[in-house]
Formats: sequence, C-alpha cells, structure tokens
Amino acid sequence: MKTPDKKPLNGKIALVTGSSRGIGRATAIALARAGAFTFINYVRNEDAARETLEIVESHGGRGSLLSFDVSDSDAVQDAIKGITEEKERIDILVNNAGITLDGIFVRTKPEEWNSLIDINLKGVFNCCRSAIRYMMKQRWGRIINMTSVVAISGNAGQVCYSASKAGIVGLTKSLARELGSRNICINAVAPGFIETDMTASIGEKNREKVIDQIPLGRTGTPDDIAGIVAFLASGKADYITGQVIHVNGGLYM
Ligand code: NAP
Repeated sequence: MKTPDKKPLNGKIALVTGSSRGIGRATAIALARAGAFTFINYVRNEDAARETLEIVESHGGRGSLLSFDVSDSDAVQDAIKGITEEKERIDILVNNAGITLDGIFVRTKPEEWNSLIDINLKGVFNCCRSAIRYMMKQRWGRIINMTSVVAISGNAGQVCYSASKAGIVGLTKSLARELGSRNICINAVAPGFIETDMTASIGEKNREKVIDQIPLGRTGTPDDIAGIVAFLASGKADYITGQVIHVNGGLYM
C-alpha cells in the first residue's frame, strides 16, 4: 500500500490575495504548511506581508511576497504571468483580498460603491481571468473565493458589501459549471464574524449582540477559515465544485 503523502500540497504553487493580514495571512500559512509554495499578496502593508512570510518560513514552509492591487487588471495579469514564468504553473488561487463598506445605504456615495466593487468583485474577476488561462493548459486548478455570510443572509448597514460578496457567489457557481470539464474546481467560503482588522472597530455592544446569535457562542478566528480553504485546495476536495461553504459557528444555517 502506498504511504500517504505527509504534505497534501507538496509541489503546488499557490497565490493568496490579501495575505498580509487576517484571514489571508492564516490561509497563506496553512497552504504553505501543507507544502504549497505560496505567493503572499498585499497592496500597501509590506511589513505585515513580510511578517506572514516569516511565519511561513518559521514553520518550514516556502513562499514569496507579491505586491499588486487586485482591482488593477494589468497589474494582476503581469503578476500572475510572473508567477508562471518563475514557477511554470499556478495551481491554487485564493481570492481573499477585500474591503468593507459599512453604513446607511442612502448615504453611500457612487464613488464608494465603485471602489468597493472594483476591489471585492472586479478583483476576483481579474485574478480568475488571468490564472484560469494557465490552469486550463495544466488541466488542473483550484480556486477558492472569499464571500461572506451576509451575501446570503443580507445585513442592514452592509447593502453594498453584501452585494459585492453575492456577486462572488454567482461568479463561483457559473465558473464552476464552465470549467469542470478542465478539472478546475471553484468554490467559495462564506465566513461569519471573524476577528481581524476588518471587524476590530465594531463596538463591544454590537459584538455581544452578534455573539448572542452564534450557537457556538464565540466569534471565529482566521484559522477557522484557513483550515477549510486548505481542505478545498487539497486532493480530499477533488469532487467539490460550485459550492459555498459556510463557516460561521451556526450564525446562519
Ligand atoms: P483584513 O484583515 O482587513 O485584511 C484585508 C487584506 O486584503 C489585507 O491583506 C489587505 O492588504 C488586502 N487588500 C485590501 N485591498 C486590496 C487590494 N486592492 N489589492 C490587494 N490586496 C488588498 O480583512 P479580513 O477580515 O482578513 O478579510 C479577508 C476576506 O474575508 C475579505 O474578502 C473579507 O471581505 C472576507 N470576510 C471577512 C469577514 C470577517 O469577519 N473578518 C467575514 C466575512 C468575509 P494590505 O495589508 O496591504 O492593506
């Protein structure tokens, strides 16, 4: 009997957008620990990205930094082309980079909507479009898109953000149908309330209110999400595509 490979992602090349901090950082670490050479993307925060790489290396993983803005189509294309020139392939793409936009809908300015959609939705389009060309040639690829519980449940005060995340759900399902025959699996992960910089400014009172609605009685950690992403990237998830995996402690079911 063949001994199972200890590192399920050995030999794979991964890119995690927005992995300088939060969920992306935990995901980059999880993929690298599972054996993938992991490109750590960021837009502004080089120090934080470098810290992610140091953690990756301290666990014996391998990776490198790659700065680009996911909303810039040309920059994305150049960056992914660079990965394939250096590594001859790209196997795993995690579209994690995102921003939030909280507030009353009627007060939202069109330019705020535009920049949110540019990063959260067009960013996913840009990265998928560039990476898929190579994945099609390889006849193997795994794409994991970070959506949100509010894409499905809705949330007052997050109309634009939830619309951007709901767009990712449609993109994920349709791409999964289009690319299944090429052995490219595309799934989405929908986190609930996860403790990161994105949620840090939420006041204690509102945090308590959310926790009251979570059957598991706690908010999530970036590692709660990273483990699921690493699973979806692995051979154990070969027959999963077009799905939205909810990771929210039961907040939405
Ligand atoms: P975070 O802590 O605010 O980190 C955001 C990351 O995205 C950073 O690495 C940031 O890079 C990067 N980023 C932002 N704009 C970018 C751009 N234009 N191009 C490239 N990278 C960019 O966020 P998080 O909480 O970990 O969230 C990660 C993802 O999960 C997001 O898509 C978010 O919508 C989703 N999500 C989060 C929660 C939650 O409760 N936290 C819940 C549901 C879904 P810099 O460091 O360089 O700025």
